[in-house]
Amino acid sequence: MANKEIPYKIYLEEDEMPKAWYNLRADMKVKPAPLLNPATHEPASIDMLSQVFCRELAEQELNVTDAYIEIPEEIRSFYKMYRPSPLVRAYCLEKKLGTPAKIYYKFEGNNTSGSHKLNSAIAQAYYAKKQGLKGVTTETGAGQWGTALSMACSYFDLDCKVYMVKVSYEQKPFRREVMRTYGADVTPSPSMTTEVGKKILEAHPGTTGSLGCAISEAVEYAVSHEGYRYVLGSVLNQVLLHQSVIGLETQTALKKYDIKPDIIIGCAGGGSNLGGLISPFAGEVLRGEADYKFIAVEPASCPSLTRGKYAYDFCDTGMICPLAKMYTLGSNYIPAPNHAGGLRYHGMSTVLSELHDQGILDAVSYKQTEVFEAAEMFARVEGILPAPESSHAIKGAIEQALRCKETGEEKTIVFGLTGTGYFDLAGYAKYNDGELENYVPTDEELAESLAKLPKMD
Ligand SMILES: *Cc1c(COP(=O)(O)O)cnc(C)c1O
Repeated sequence: MANKEIPYKIYLEEDEMPKAWYNLRADMKVKPAPLLNPATHEPASIDMLSQVFCRELAEQELNVTDAYIEIPEEIRSFYKMYRPSPLVRAYCLEKKLGTPAKIYYKFEGNNTSGSHKLNSAIAQAYYAKKQGLKGVTTETGAGQWGTALSMACSYFDLDCKVYMVKVSYEQKPFRREVMRTYGADVTPSPSMTTEVGKKILEAHPGTTGSLGCAISEAVEYAVSHEGYRYVLGSVLNQVLLHQSVIGLETQTALKKYDIKPDIIIGCAGGGSNLGGLISPFAGEVLRGEADYKFIAVEPASCPSLTRGKYAYDFCDTGMICPLAKMYTLGSNYIPAPNHAGGLRYHGMSTVLSELHDQGILDAVSYKQTEVFEAAEMFARVEGILPAPESSHAIKGAIEQALRCKETGEEKTIVFGLTGTGYFDLAGYAKYNDGELENYVPTDEELAESLAKLPKMD
């Protein structure tokens, strides 16, 4: 199919959609360090993880040997409602930039939850149902994960309990109502429904909550109620695995038109969309079949890959989840408020952390005003109103395309456009009013937080 004209949107047929997820860990010669039990520092076992997570998901979490894991038929049918997602040629952005580079983006915002998170939510809800559970609990900050999970739970008729950080609960009433419409029970955190919530409220009356506190409440509810498990929307290996549908579809779409990417870019919060997008391509690199440049883009206010330390740390502020070796800013690190809520996480997926350490994955960070400028340019020429998280990847792609303009290189750039920004208009309002502030932590602040990493011996 060489020389075929490239359409604005490359769609796949239903039967070209992936039938198995790709597990990059199977092709990694040096694997990510194992998850550890936070109390004993012994490697986490399936039995230990199954107390908190669904059994089959705990198995996926620890599976470093199977390169392909079949996607159950019911999940594939759900995927068909909103996938395959288009791979779009950004002809208008290229023209606007005057770059010889060819830019493509994989758009994951075409579902009601507005982001890629539904790809994993539906898988996690499926395994919970299969295990015969009554329901699942989770936390949500910005609200995208809670929304995706409530959609998935209503599909499988599962109870869905969402602890939403109080400040978001109050500031994002529309997200809350979407979740409630899908049947989720949304509680502002900290709350009086858990012991940990009561304790926090007693010590800090009037607190507006934090993600760590919401995680602690969600986990406590799950482990103290029969038939419930806790689910998480990023960071974990199982989430990267489910998100590999993004990369697999991208790979098939590119192959259809004989396109070979040079640079693949994604925003990185906990690493699930980026990990999912690059996994099949990173597999080619690890097997010595191809060479690509991978770039993670993070906010300057929460720079885990670019300025963090590669060390064992808690995945949650509540210090209940397993310890993971990852690039981290310290589980106590509270990033300054910024408008990319989905990227305000202190750590990074262990798989991506290991790839970064091996020099396979590059990382850059940008300030939020630069990111909103990129979002505005993109919205005006390509039509989609991007989520602030996704706009980090847009900014990264624009920078690479401008570099090509200087050198005259016709590189092919692919980036992940993870979602839409309709619930982020408060951030856009600040940007439009010229009131958006940048915050970049000092070396001292980071050192202070990193000094509190758990002592490993
Ligand atoms: C959650 C979220 C992200 C960041 O999460 P990852 O796990 O790093 O992918 C990025 N974009 C959007 C739209 C999100 O909702």
